[in-house]
Amino acid sequence: MLTPAVSEDLSQLVHLEASDPADGSQASSDNRRLFGLDAEALAARMVAAGEPAWRGRQLAEALYRQRITELDAITTLPKILRQRLAAEGWHVGRSAIAQVFQSVDGTERYLVQCPDGYGLTVETVWMPEGDDGESGDGSNAEILQSQGTPSLTPQDANLLTRDSRAAGANSLHLFETSRQKATLCISSQVGCAVNCRFCLTAKLGFQRNLTAGEIAGQVIAVFDRHAVEVGRDRVNLVFMGMGEPFLNYDNFMGAVRLLIREVGLSPQRMTVSTSGIVPGIKRFAAEPPEFRPKLAISLNAPNDAIRSEIMPINRKWPIESIVAAVRPIKLRPRERITFEYVLLDSVTDRPKDAQEVARLVRRTGLPAKVNLIAWNPGPGIHYSTPLPEAVEAFRKVLIDAGIPTYLRKPRGRDIYAACGQLKRTVEG
Ligand code: SAH
Ligand code: SF4
Repeated sequence: MLTPAVSEDLSQLVHLEASDPADGSQASSDNRRLFGLDAEALAARMVAAGEPAWRGRQLAEALYRQRITELDAITTLPKILRQRLAAEGWHVGRSAIAQVFQSVDGTERYLVQCPDGYGLTVETVWMPEGDDGESGDGSNAEILQSQGTPSLTPQDANLLTRDSRAAGANSLHLFETSRQKATLCISSQVGCAVNCRFCLTAKLGFQRNLTAGEIAGQVIAVFDRHAVEVGRDRVNLVFMGMGEPFLNYDNFMGAVRLLIREVGLSPQRMTVSTSGIVPGIKRFAAEPPEFRPKLAISLNAPNDAIRSEIMPINRKWPIESIVAAVRPIKLRPRERITFEYVLLDSVTDRPKDAQEVARLVRRTGLPAKVNLIAWNPGPGIHYSTPLPEAVEAFRKVLIDAGIPTYLRKPRGRDIYAACGQLKRTVEG
């Protein structure tokens, strides 16, 4: 069923440029919070407090590697210093998991409490084994596989010995299975201003931007819960939770830099999804490769007419303008741009739509892949989930056209954790 012609006022989008400064004010409202500052900024704070600069590095280790949440527990700092800093109002101030919803499929959805959010929570989703969303886009795992067996680090070798001793069985097999593999879906804003017709988050409206610390805090809080070992476990991060990352660009990229520099994650294990905010994509294209995650574009329609109906933002930044902004990105070897495509029954899932999408993607000339997502239902949204036959037929058209195409598994639908279902639903 097609939605009625869209006629809402788009003026709300005008001020939401990618460099929206609204975010910084929240960060600076509590300048005694340590979490969210990188080692350099922490060093500057320590120097200002009369301490040597290397205390900044110690603090960064404690916050981002050891995941310590209380200043008093940072025992690398002398007790007297901890007491003095606390007396001066310094505190860690990391986001914390306030509520957990567990799905029958192992997915967990969290309400994460922002440190000074006055009760505001955001949604974060942990999907063990992932949802196949990162297949075929040149992630590390594939690079390693394509180059043969990964070489072992001394740490891996220890593990191998430990596992083989424990089980006395095929050690390489155990070594592989002893790693965690998961995808973590992160929010960048509370609510969203973009107003896509099929998305439950849109119903919340825009509430506020998250700070860099609040975005990275979701990652650290969930890593803590699952005892993730960075460098050993394979966790992919996707910035696909609540909000439009490119309308909170500086904080989003601030979080990316923190996660890379201080936590030790790889940008090749991170994917940011945008509804097509062209000024944000242009800034993103200019980021240095060592700090640039992979990019996914929510295409969702075969042409501008349908896209403008289901994503009113397309009137401001139509498909060609998005493709033109993506083109200058210097992709890494084997990296592809992902086009996400939500299948809405009888709106975007028809065979002629598939053919048009295939032509469109090929016309871009970009190394690309398509991630199909069967629409996940939500209360008050009047679309229907596509029939499995329609999904399969759609996929086949794209595959036959030579376009790598993957179907994203719906994870955690029973707990409202699947794509587009994030709305701080507390019923579980
Ligand atoms: N705001 C960003 C990232 C968050 S949305 C963006 O729009 O890209 C993440 C993905 O979920 C997008 O590709 C979006 O099109 C998709 N999505 C939104 N609502 C959905 C729903 N109800 N069912 C399936 N996918 C949905
Ligand atoms: Fe916002 Fe993305 Fe939902 Fe659109 S799909 S309303 S951009 S979160």
